[in-house]
Amino acid sequence: MRWQRLFAENAEIDFASAGETMTKMDYVEPDHGKIQLRDATLGVHAVVPSGIFTGSAMINAGELAQKYGNGELRFDMEQSFYIMGVKDLDALLKEAFFLEYKNIDTPYKNHLIACAGTEHCPFGVIENKNDAIAMANYLGERVPLESGRVRMYWSACVKGCGIHGLGDIGFEGCKAKIEGVNGSGVHIFLGGKLMGESTEGHTVIKSAPLEYAKYYVESLMLEYKKLRKEGEHFEGFYTRVLSNFTHAKIGFLMMLQAYMRAKNINIDFGFETKVITGKNEEFEVFELGRRLYYALSKKEPYSAYERFTNVNKREKLEDIRKLVKGVDENIALLLEYILNEEENKRAVVFSEITPLIMLYNK
Ligand code: SF4
Repeated sequence: MRWQRLFAENAEIDFASAGETMTKMDYVEPDHGKIQLRDATLGVHAVVPSGIFTGSAMINAGELAQKYGNGELRFDMEQSFYIMGVKDLDALLKEAFFLEYKNIDTPYKNHLIACAGTEHCPFGVIENKNDAIAMANYLGERVPLESGRVRMYWSACVKGCGIHGLGDIGFEGCKAKIEGVNGSGVHIFLGGKLMGESTEGHTVIKSAPLEYAKYYVESLMLEYKKLRKEGEHFEGFYTRVLSNFTHAKIGFLMMLQAYMRAKNINIDFGFETKVITGKNEEFEVFELGRRLYYALSKKEPYSAYERFTNVNKREKLEDIRKLVKGVDENIALLLEYILNEEENKRAVVFSEITPLIMLYNK
């Protein structure tokens, strides 16, 4: 690049080149449980969820490395490790060690990272390691995935030692109130990337109590399971689908779906793959209201639209309560607020309507 050449000329230094970016390739080893080494032996993965490991397990791993491999263990950056130089994979995997530390775990645990948390770090705001495992277990039961990759990275405070900003889903520990009482919570991040130059994620939900955060992430995983292409990792799903929406809409829809499940409102309502609103929050709010009204009543709220508003300004909005008997009152209020006949009374940002779909009082 020109500026680099000018910089080097000006400094009169022949700088070494940056070399090759080694992270540009996707890494799949933890999903396959092994990596082929140059000498035709294998590096065999052992998953250590949240990095919780004992001294005796470490001795055991060392003994297995001596018996089946070349005596070498290599740690990866996701708190798990490889037994190197393995020739007899089947015999190694029959060892009882792999009952606890799986060779391939669920997609929620294969890449799980959690920093020290309150147990071992004075800065910790939440316990963290077991919170991360509880979330992974919950998702494994509620939204089982036979394949796929979801990198969940947890930091127990803002310092970010669990590199939550780089996770597909990042969790940053914080305090969160339920009924005025402070407890453990998380800020939820999405969109972190490890490949290439790496990308920091962004917050989609702030200060979610841990008791409820799992429901919000469940919404996301249901959408991933429903909309993903064959073999698509969450990172690809985020780029293809979720990145077309504002952060506010993603967070709101995660909460809305959790609310609808809690109220047994069984309609197919989630992220669209053909997005027409652009990343304009006001358009997104109206479009979400219009789609939700239709999903509930099978009727359009207005007869014609232009630029995400009704064309005929005299047209009356039919009360959803009359169209759908027993409709949830908060959903009815939400639709009134979004689709109000008087445009200046409509909600234009998601935070205005979020209180209607909260599962708890702050
Ligand atoms: S992120 Fe915070 S709690 Fe976790 S290890 Fe770092 S300083 Fe400690």
